[in-house]
Amino acid sequence: MNFDFGEQEQQFVAEVKAFIAEQALSADADDVMNPNRESDSILSDTPARKRFNRAMAERGYMGMSWPKAYGGKELPGIYEYLLNEELSRVGAPLIGKGVGCVGQTLIRHGSEKLKAEFLPAILKAEIEFALGYTEPGAGSDLASLKLKAERSGEGWLLNGQKMFTTSAHFADWYWLAARTDPNAPKHKGISLFLVPMDHPGITITPIETLGEHVTNQVFIDDVWVHEDYLVGELNKGWTYICEALDYERFTFYTFSPLEEKFNALLELVNDTHRDGEPLSADSSVRRQMARLATDVETAKMLQRRVIYAASQGGVPSIEAAECKLYSTELHQRLSQAAIDFLGEQGLLHKDDVDAAAGGKWEWSYRATPLDTIGAGTSEIQKNIIARKKLNLPLEY
Ligand SMILES: Cc1cc2nc3c(=O)[nH]c(=O)nc-3n(C[C@H](O)[C@H](O)[C@H](O)COP(=O)(O)OP(=O)(O)OC[C@H]3O[C@@H](n4cnc5c(N)ncnc54)[C@H](O)[C@@H]3O)c2cc1C
Repeated sequence: MNFDFGEQEQQFVAEVKAFIAEQALSADADDVMNPNRESDSILSDTPARKRFNRAMAERGYMGMSWPKAYGGKELPGIYEYLLNEELSRVGAPLIGKGVGCVGQTLIRHGSEKLKAEFLPAILKAEIEFALGYTEPGAGSDLASLKLKAERSGEGWLLNGQKMFTTSAHFADWYWLAARTDPNAPKHKGISLFLVPMDHPGITITPIETLGEHVTNQVFIDDVWVHEDYLVGELNKGWTYICEALDYERFTFYTFSPLEEKFNALLELVNDTHRDGEPLSADSSVRRQMARLATDVETAKMLQRRVIYAASQGGVPSIEAAECKLYSTELHQRLSQAAIDFLGEQGLLHKDDVDAAAGGKWEWSYRATPLDTIGAGTSEIQKNIIARKKLNLPLEY
């Protein structure tokens, strides 16, 4: 069986690589492309990032899968995946929430007013969004969210708190899930709103994570939103959130960073000596490397199954759960192996001049747990596999 991409897809990858090579020549390239960077959101909204995103927009890379009527190209979603695959290979910002969950949801369910206001700005990379789903008591069990939206004149009055909102500190708009019917069953009383991030009553407090990824607590006090900024139908928010998460699972977890990390680990093994002997001659290191090489190949196949299922028009929820569970934990195992191989020098922070490999592995060791939590923890992925694939009952 041949798992390679088709000729047109490979040609597209070659074009993206050429685009990235061009961008690598710009003076601010290091600020925006850094394969050693473990965390995209420490980038914030630097001028370099804005310039890079605009260059992607000018090249026509935003909204490739959107309908032509909205400025898209109606290409299969795999092109957006392939673009993200090459961007993440070099540590550049991915096409993200605007083109993905916000844009796709607005195209499917948004009013003409919201489409006209937001879609052209997304295509030009002029606008950044933050996703406000998680709350202190609603993460894995997201449908328990409590942020209150009450009818008030021609709009809604919002009150409550969100947790772990990535990009809130630089986004322009908040894509916000709120409870609009407290009496309905929990999945049926949620709606989505678009709120300007600088609206009075919104207070953003940073949360620094183990991996230096800046995320935020957001407090929402008496924030009034005109009813025009309700997305789609009232109380249909849960359906829209689930649809968008399915989309995110397809394009978001790319394989290339695993491949790059493994190659860097191999280089480390080839270049490092311990007690005067090359690491590459140590039989336990060789055994571990052979095991990890096989695991990376497995992760690639799991990823290709997600793409294949999506290309057949299905919702790859089981495949995506298997891929996310395996790949995010493999990232951790690769970093763990590097720390083991390097010994005490591997534990030095990247700011320490004596840090091995510029502190890359120590940072990676701290940062890799994040992806086993964001967008559904490993336990939640296991629940999906147990329930949907194995038909195991949830409770006894
Ligand atoms: C880097 C990062 C960025 C994020 N960005 C955003 C963002 O932009 N917007 C946003 O809204 N959220 C964001 N999140 C939040 C993320 O979606 C939640 O952290 C995640 O869904 C888990 O929720 P929680 O933190 O409330 O943990 P909880 O749900 O409280 O889980 C705590 C522990 O219990 C386990 N657990 C919970 N339920 C079950 C179960 N049924 N069975 C077995 N085990 C279970 C979990 O696996 C976990 O180990 C981000 C998180 C991270 C780490």
